[in-house]
Amino acid sequence: MKASWLDEFPARIKDLDAQHLRRKRRIVSPLVAARMQVDGREMLAFCSNDYLGLASHEAIIQAACEGAKKFGAGSGASPLVSGHSLANETLEHELAAFVGLPKALYFYAGYAANIGIIPALVGRGDAVFSDALNHACLIDGARLSRADIVPYEHANLSALSAALCASTAQRKLVISDAVFSMDGDIANIPALLALCEQHDALLLLDDAHGFGVLGPQGRGALAQFGLSGANASARVLYMATLGKAAGVAGAFVAGSEALIEWLLQKTRSYIFATAAPPMLASALSASLKLIAQDDWRRSDLALRIAQLRLGLQAGLKNSNWRLGESSTAIQALVIGSNEDALRVMQGLAERGIWVPAIRPPTVPQGTARLRIALSAAHTQEDVALLVQALTELSIA
Ligand SMILES: *Cc1c(COP(=O)(O)O)cnc(C)c1O
Repeated sequence: MKASWLDEFPARIKDLDAQHLRRKRRIVSPLVAARMQVDGREMLAFCSNDYLGLASHEAIIQAACEGAKKFGAGSGASPLVSGHSLANETLEHELAAFVGLPKALYFYAGYAANIGIIPALVGRGDAVFSDALNHACLIDGARLSRADIVPYEHANLSALSAALCASTAQRKLVISDAVFSMDGDIANIPALLALCEQHDALLLLDDAHGFGVLGPQGRGALAQFGLSGANASARVLYMATLGKAAGVAGAFVAGSEALIEWLLQKTRSYIFATAAPPMLASALSASLKLIAQDDWRRSDLALRIAQLRLGLQAGLKNSNWRLGESSTAIQALVIGSNEDALRVMQGLAERGIWVPAIRPPTVPQGTARLRIALSAAHTQEDVALLVQALTELSIA
């Protein structure tokens, strides 16, 4: 009998094991602050994108419960059929006002937003210019669009400029993370926008890691650069996710009236999907208020970031691990090989500290790293413990 390709999967999984690429899920439940129960054991976690410590906030949990009572647990249908709840409509107005753009469209997930938005904007014969370190869902969205994809070296704006000059595409779309998800560096948004103006291109920014954290009151990367409100450009589509600093789930895209109306009409992942549960929109409305009000969360986070960087720069002076250039909550400690990164992760775990090792294909070959995610929920003692442990492991 001819062998079936279905029989190859056990061997393919073994291959992943051999390359140290097999991933495991851990069963977690939150304890206080940045501590979690992980597979039954208490750990100090540096892996959540809950940058402001809002995911377990009492007021947000209560708003979710009240929203469920008032609007139901589920939305029942696509927003274009009967799923567009008053809670979701209200949230869209609040989100647009918060980031200082005319209009917003609320999605059930950031991945769904990006894979839908890009094909709604461009197609065959058009061109998408994409930073080499963009998040997977921007890349997948570009592929789905069938436009030509023109990758440019990470943050290299002269390379982008040359690519835009060389392109004869009718419609040009530049896509970029605002804060890069594995390195934590911030895109030069004013320069990206200037290039887009020069070449009649549209700029799509993914601010999954800046929303709630960057800019006055956490209004995001555009606000940080003074490009929101009266200074907003109709050439920018601003996308952000709501499961990270906002502590809940979902995403939105904001921009000019015309662009958002077009996306509402044409984004397949919006049209052919059940609308986000209204209870989540209620939770998010409560979260937005806390994000705007609680400047102390951003101040605490900034203190923890500075403490970690100073501590590691001193502690790792004699090691060949490299701490990336980042002023955000995402701090990458590049170790090198997959095996070494896993060994350090294991060493931390033995000390009760959880930092994930990120390996290819998520990051380039040979740059396996620890991705340290800081949060306002971390105390000074938490960060001191991590610095101490990494310093010891770097010598061992
Ligand atoms: C997490 C993330 C997403 C995906 O958002 P989800 O709401 O988790 O689907 C998109 N873009 C970036 C840059 C992200 O980090």
